[in-house]
Amino acid sequence: MNVKVTVVRDILEANERLAAENRALFDRHEVRVVNLMSAPGAGKTTLLEKTVAALSGELRIGVIEGDIQTSLDAERIERAGARAVQINTDGACHLDANMVAAAVSKLELPALDLLVIENVGNLVCPAEFKVGEHAKAMILSLAEGDDKPLKYPLMFKESRVLLINKMDLQPHVNSDPARIEQAARQINPAIEIFRVSCKTGEGLEGWYGWLRAL
Ligand code: MG
Repeated sequence: MNVKVTVVRDILEANERLAAENRALFDRHEVRVVNLMSAPGAGKTTLLEKTVAALSGELRIGVIEGDIQTSLDAERIERAGARAVQINTDGACHLDANMVAAAVSKLELPALDLLVIENVGNLVCPAEFKVGEHAKAMILSLAEGDDKPLKYPLMFKESRVLLINKMDLQPHVNSDPARIEQAARQINPAIEIFRVSCKTGEGLEGWYGWLRAL
């Protein structure tokens, strides 16, 4: 095996061990954890603002925000009414288990029922690294195009749920949500799919129900 392949394998194995430790910590405190992934601009933070507003009466929600720079998203989540910790990756295109462990130490896990980890906006790398989550979820906005599941299959394969967001844009784009669903199910037959609009609120009850049942 060449050196590069060995190094990549070692990095992934070390990350898996740390992710398992994170997961054990979450289980000990009975916190359910979602790793939320998408390309930039698909609507992760807007979805979380809506989710916090809708569910904070029944679930105690915390959020870890992963971005390359700025604390803009953590500020939005705190304004929506949930505890948020920002991670800046300073260039890295995904979160790893080590970054999440550091952020978790700033949260009070006994005070939470649900923790959502908003990964760095990127349709590729975040799907390769476990962070200790119970489930991966992803958003694809309709405007990104219905060819994306087949072009970027790993995230669709790894995710337990897919939200097709920005359904309100359907009259203005050529992208067909039925084609997105068909391609996503071709890659991952078990994936649950909800068509939503975080702008109008359409379809979000399905997502809320999925979170309640997690
Ligand atoms: Mg965001």
